[in-house]
Amino acid sequence: MADPNPSIRMCLDCKTLTTTPILLHAEDRTSGPAFCVYACVDCAPAHLTLTQSLDRLFEHTHPCPDCTPLDSCEMGLALARVHGRVLRRQRQITESAS
Ligand SMILES: [Zn+2]
Ligand SMILES: [Zn+2]
Repeated sequence: MADPNPSIRMCLDCKTLTTTPILLHAEDRTSGPAFCVYACVDCAPAHLTLTQSLDRLFEHTHPCPDCTPLDSCEMGLALARVHGRVLRRQRQITESAS
């Protein structure tokens, strides 16, 4: 089962340590644990699609007792913020394309 509150991780982009790491992707390896890549709240939106950011939010809020019914823990708020930014970026792309 995925840990809803991973500890401190380094951001892929800006290399700062963040207490609310956003999982970008996990690479399954044939041996050993999966290799996970994380980003901070500021960098994560650039790496995630709308579906991915929504998935991350649900993956956290579903097992997290603090995030029912609202995203109320630090991690939940961070994921909600990331999803909001991805949503906004997606809208800008759609508007400039039309
Ligand atoms: Zn970063
Ligand atoms: Zn939570």
